[in-house]
Amino acid sequence: MYLFTGEKKDCCGCMACVPVCPVNCITVAVDEEGFEYPVRDAARCTNCGKCTAVCPVVNKPEAIPTEGFPAAYAAWSRDAETRRNSSSGGVFPELAKRVLSDGGVVFGAAFSDDFHTVHHIKMEDPGDLPRLQGSKYVQSSTVGVFPQVKELLASGRKVLFSGTPCQVAGLRNFIGDDAEGLTTCDLVCHGVPSPGVFARYMEEQEKKYEAKTRGYSFRHKKTGWNFMEVDQVFSEGRSYHSMDWADPFMHGFLKNILLRPVCYRCPFYPVPRIADLTLADYWSVATKYPKYDDDKGTSLVLIHSKKGDGLLHAGNALIVHRTDIAHGIAHNAHLNHPAAEPACRKEFFEAFRGGSFSVAASVYIKKGEVLRRKIRRWIKKTIWRLRFNK
Ligand SMILES: Cc1cc2nc3c(=O)[nH]c(=O)nc-3n(C[C@H](O)[C@H](O)[C@H](O)COP(=O)(O)OP(=O)(O)OC[C@H]3O[C@@H](n4cnc5c(N)ncnc54)[C@H](O)[C@@H]3O)c2cc1C
Ligand code: SF4
Ligand code: SF4
Ligand code: SF4
Repeated sequence: MYLFTGEKKDCCGCMACVPVCPVNCITVAVDEEGFEYPVRDAARCTNCGKCTAVCPVVNKPEAIPTEGFPAAYAAWSRDAETRRNSSSGGVFPELAKRVLSDGGVVFGAAFSDDFHTVHHIKMEDPGDLPRLQGSKYVQSSTVGVFPQVKELLASGRKVLFSGTPCQVAGLRNFIGDDAEGLTTCDLVCHGVPSPGVFARYMEEQEKKYEAKTRGYSFRHKKTGWNFMEVDQVFSEGRSYHSMDWADPFMHGFLKNILLRPVCYRCPFYPVPRIADLTLADYWSVATKYPKYDDDKGTSLVLIHSKKGDGLLHAGNALIVHRTDIAHGIAHNAHLNHPAAEPACRKEFFEAFRGGSFSVAASVYIKKGEVLRRKIRRWIKKTIWRLRFNK
């Protein structure tokens, strides 16, 4: 167990262990790579074992086997704006609206006001939903969140918790059997980049543009869902827009350089899953169901329980088509294996300790590579449009 061995590959940072400690001897600290880890005060620890029992890396909760599941669907929101503001088909915000209209509470990942960090927040007002929309490719902090979920469930409120599979696993262990009012929604997960690296990148962007960030999207759909682009809006009327591979942070994410050590050995990637439902990009939906891809975003939804099924099919805000689960899984890499650890990860983080993100990024951005990626993107886009007549 991480708290006793210090092996970083054994800690996903869910923070379930912090509030279970009866003597409050676990605190949270940021390591030299910019990730949060729990820290045990050995002098006060009574070896009660409660932190080990709740840790999802040691005790992975069981998936709930339910007859007829898992099942796969292609889905997207009927509302064009909702779909545009989300990374895939806008399924998450529609599920959230359903839970809120039923008097429930929603938890998900939101940027801080300065857009430098990402935290899980509690949301009760549908007007705040845009804060949770969109994938943030940075680890979202859940410090202090699980006890809030537990308290709300104990008071009889319904809760929808959305997060990475390891966050859902940590929450399930923390809540225990008392989960009747809880619905969990996880994501197919590539891995989570370092919050410290992202914050440094944002500082450098703001220095370069001599302005403060007013909006940030890792996945703007200006040129379509199939071709990812980063979009940053600054004060002073300035803006930054970049193809994913041409942006140094996204480049590092896509090349698996910036991820948390445990992500290369992720115990939570395969089906069956622990959550009630799983959301993902339905990459390659067009290879089997071309009419379900209009380049505005299509979600792959995997349903694992009756609760998840009920939430997906309640109301009429989503367009939902049953699809072949084997095809959906086969074409989504991170339902089949975790991200591979690149040889230069260590070199990057050593360089990052020197203080500059852009200097450290030169470890993995090779001369001519971005240009080659741009040409490859242009060819892919042209073939995609001809093939699917878009
Ligand atoms: C770090 C990360 C890696 C991913 N990797 C893959 C992948 O490899 N393959 C794939 O098919 N899909 C991946 N996804 C999922 C995909 O990008 C979409 O988030 C998902 O399909 C939901 O899209 P949507 O349009 O329904 O909702 P959206 O409106 O896009 O909702 C986003 C949802 O994701 C949650 N979220 C956003 N950022 C984070 C975060 N940092 N940590 C935890 N939860 C977060 C929000 O709380 C919200 O519930 C990943 C998402 C994240 C956050
Ligand atoms: S073993 Fe018990 S006392 Fe020690 S850190 Fe874990 S929860 Fe706290
Ligand atoms: S409970 Fe979560 S934060 Fe604590 S050691 Fe285990 S994985 Fe890490
Ligand atoms: S890859 Fe696995 S360990 Fe890493 S954030 Fe995703 S679910 Fe957690």
